[in-house]
Order: sequence, then C-alpha cells, then structure tokens
Amino acid sequence: VGSFCLSEADAGSDAFAMRGAAVKQGDYYILNGTKIWITNAEHAGVFLVMVNANPTAGYKGITTFLVDRDTEGLSIGKKEDKLGIRASSTCPVHLDNVKVPASNILGEFGMGYRYAIEMLNEGRIGIASQMLGLAEGCFNATVPYTMERKQFGKRVFDFQGMRHQIAHVATQIEACRSLVYNAARKKEAGQPFLKEAAMAKLYASELATLTTSKCIEWMGGVGFTKDYPIEKYYRDCKVGTIYEGTSNIQLNTIAKCLEAEGFSGN
Ligand SMILES: Cc1cc2nc3c(=O)[nH]c(=O)nc-3n(C[C@H](O)[C@H](O)[C@H](O)COP(=O)(O)OP(=O)(O)OC[C@H]3O[C@@H](n4cnc5c(N)ncnc54)[C@H](O)[C@@H]3O)c2cc1C
Repeated sequence: VGSFCLSEADAGSDAFAMRGAAVKQGDYYILNGTKIWITNAEHAGVFLVMVNANPTAGYKGITTFLVDRDTEGLSIGKKEDKLGIRASSTCPVHLDNVKVPASNILGEFGMGYRYAIEMLNEGRIGIASQMLGLAEGCFNATVPYTMERKQFGKRVFDFQGMRHQIAHVATQIEACRSLVYNAARKKEAGQPFLKEAAMAKLYASELATLTTSKCIEWMGGVGFTKDYPIEKYYRDCKVGTIYEGTSNIQLNTIAKCLEAEGFSGN
C-alpha cells in the first residue's frame, strides 16, 4: 500500500504553496515538513512525498521522493475521525529530518509538480467512477424498498411525486456514466482529457450527494437509521466534492479549458 503526500495545513487547494522542504546533503536529501489528510497512512509501506527541494525555483523546485515507512524521522499522526469513508485511514505524516538517498527521487528532480498534476488529473476519473458507483449502489438499494413499502393503500413507488423523482435521478446516473466513460475513453486513447475528467469528477460527486440525500428521503424514517446502508452512502459520498480537488477547483479547471479552447471572447 502506498500513500500520496501532497497536502499541508496551508497548502490544500493551493497545493504548490507547500512549506515541506528537502535540503541536499552529499548523496542524500534531508526532508522536513508535515503532510496532512494522507489516505492509507496507517497501513502504507511507502510514501510518495512531494516537497520543495529548490524553493528559489518556486513550484519548479517541487520534487517527489519515495520514502519507506520505517525511515527514521517519518511518523504517522492521529487518525482523523471522519464523517465517511471510515474504513480508509486518513492521518498526518510528519517528516522530521528524514534522510533519503538521492536515488529515491521519483523521476526527475523538480518535476514533482508535473507528476502531482498528472496523478490528480487521472485520479479524477477514478474518483468520478467511485462516486458513480456509490450513487448507483445507493439507488439500487433504495428503489426496491419504494416498490415494497405501502402507504395510502399503494406502493410508494406508484405516487407520481415519487416516480418522477426516481426517473429523474436514474436519468442523471446514466448521463453521469456517459461523462465518466467518455473521460476514461479519451485518456485510454491518448487524447487530451483534462476538461472531461474535471467535468466527470464534478458531476459524479455532486450527483452522488444528491442521490444519497434523495434516497434517504425516499426510504422515510428507516433511511435515517443504521438498519439500512443508505445513511452510510450519504456520509461516504460527501468527500467526493472535496478530495482530488474540490468542486470549485474542478469548475476553475473547466473554465480554464474552455478559455484555452477559444471561448475567451478575443
Ligand atoms: C478524506 C480525505 C482524504 C484525503 N487524502 C489525501 C491524500 O491522500 N493526499 C493528499 O495529499 N491530500 C489528501 N486530501 C486532501 C484534499 O486533497 C484537500 O482537502 C483538498 O484539496 C482541499 O483542500 P483544503 O481541505 O485545504 O480546503 P481549502 O483549499 O482550504 O478549501 C476551502 C474552500 O475554499 C474553496 N476554494 C479554495 N480555493 C479556491 C479557488 N481558487 N476558487 C474557488 N474556491 C476555492 C474550496 O473549494 C473549498 O470550498 C484528503 C482529504 C480528505 C478529506
């Protein structure tokens, strides 16, 4: 298991404003800083750590180091007590004079920002898929209940107010699938996919939030209890609008792509 260590307390959406630094000492680098929100930190055997090894070059000094878990000076902080995805650990990772050989640089010196961008761009298709699956799983777990539950002598599914809502969400899930598959198809074909991945991640995570909220409503009171998995879907999906770039950051990316495509008005 590996962990991707980019975010810091003052460098979240603005990830490249990081303070974590690496200083060269002979054939080694000494790493210092604290990374936060690190997924899998509790179990990871290797940490992909992005720190600035040449601050005078700005973000072009950011370099990626491979750091083994048992390296002296690397320690894992307290696991976050999260709203959702509680089976996945999220912890701070402290780097206190961590000494790693220069050969542990991943790829080229100063290219860490590029690798981070590429991993995040691709990763967005992954998060979009995660959110699509989550929305669909929640929907599939809920609709049969509406077909069994009776009120006013009818299945709750039979009320037009319910049918239309369910049909609307089913349509949005299908639209989302097309967006996600299209981004993946472009990536696989070696075509530019930045805008499509951002759109898929934005739409899928917002749709998962909407779907899981609607599903709780469609279940009535039982949807609000832990007797059914719906409340878990509701909690788990929220992070989709936050990690690998918040929804606002996806919107920024989409707008930037539109501008680059010639919608700048110039
Ligand atoms: C469960 C979980 C797991 C994570 N795993 C990892 C991991 O493995 N590795 C890792 O490096 N990081 C990880 N992260 C960190 C995650 O990527 C950041 O939380 C995310 O990028 C947002 O940064 P922030 O929390 O500092 O929010 P902030 O950047 O402080 O954002 C706060 C608000 O301001 C808005 N905002 C900020 N800038 C702009 C802007 N330019 N335009 C418009 N709105 C803006 C945001 O949209 C948001 O609504 C994880 C986070 C969580 C919650």
